[in-house]
Amino acid sequence: MEKIILTGDRPTGRLHIGHYVGSLKRRVELQNSGEFDKIYIMIADAQALTDNFDNPEKVRQNIMQVALDYLAVGLDPEKVTIFIQSQVPELTELSFYYMNLVTVSRLQRNPTVKNEIVMRNFETSIPVGFFTYPISQASDITAFKATTVPVGEDQLPMIEQAREIVRKFNQTYQKDVLVEPEAVIPSNEICKRLPGTDGSAKMSKSLGNCIYLADTAEELRTKVMSMYTDPNHIKVTDPGSLEGNAVFTYLDAFCRPEHFAQFWPEYESLDALKEHYQRGGLGDVKVKKFLYAIMDSELAPIRERRLAWEKRIPEIIEILRKGSAEAERVAAQTLSEVKQAMKIDYFNDEEWLREQMQ
Ligand code: ATP
Ligand code: MG
Repeated sequence: MEKIILTGDRPTGRLHIGHYVGSLKRRVELQNSGEFDKIYIMIADAQALTDNFDNPEKVRQNIMQVALDYLAVGLDPEKVTIFIQSQVPELTELSFYYMNLVTVSRLQRNPTVKNEIVMRNFETSIPVGFFTYPISQASDITAFKATTVPVGEDQLPMIEQAREIVRKFNQTYQKDVLVEPEAVIPSNEICKRLPGTDGSAKMSKSLGNCIYLADTAEELRTKVMSMYTDPNHIKVTDPGSLEGNAVFTYLDAFCRPEHFAQFWPEYESLDALKEHYQRGGLGDVKVKKFLYAIMDSELAPIRERRLAWEKRIPEIIEILRKGSAEAERVAAQTLSEVKQAMKIDYFNDEEWLREQMQ
């Protein structure tokens, strides 16, 4: 069986370091591993509209921003197909048929959707489109017969929903048309769900607590220096706590052993640094400067590649146009198999045609 990746992001803002550690970094590794037959990366504008229907301008403005972020982190248009969801109408048609295979109560149980409904104050008036986005996401994944979906932890319930739809479809229509996808989530616990700079549960475009891949060195410095730490760590001599301390959480996500020799040789490891902080006598500012140095070394090359691609916008438009056309070809093929399995592609169905003539 072919190994195929489908993954993507909502164009609701520029991409941030949560996306980077949660999914983008892994995508680039998988791209370069040469182990996959096809890789599709989707800019999920139709999904973004499910909770931004009244602000299409925001979605529209961020298509190019997300494409730039992709190219900046090292996704290579020669190796991956980058496309825009709304330009592949077959995905919507698949969703329409999949809706029959999912119950309202099953959607209501989805913990990520539950969470997002609260976050967006949708409790009393949930748009149907938003409520059903896990079904639309199943269409995105299955249209490409994806086997592998590299995502952050918040997406696990979506992949589970997609797997259920695949099983239900293949069983109901007695044909193995659709492929069950597997999620690939980061092995580093922190990277599964990177918290915001304010220490809140998740860095999210919609919460305004992000460090963006496109941030300048100065913006990065300002954000790191004003990050949430331990509110009780007032004097340098006070013992500090690591619990909910975003600076240490980010160190867990970004710090590698070699960073000590490079930026802070006084300490030999992150454990030694943590131990000193907890004991007291180590100020937040020093730790933040260390974190800044590490993050800047990781983000500077991304920033530079982004600046270079910003001068090549016409090429990017072509990448997106071609990618969307290719994605549509593949999705149309799956849709036609789906309709055959459901026996609703009448004009190509010899049996149906014969029956009518009798
Ligand atoms: P929105 O607030 O509009 O939902 P978002 O910041 O949650 O935006 P998405 O486009 O929904 O971003 O997510 C894209 C991918 O990035 C998903 O695979 C998701 O799991 C992952 N991701 C998003 N935020 C984080 C995070 N803070 N830590 C790890 N992975 C993340
Ligand atoms: Mg999200």
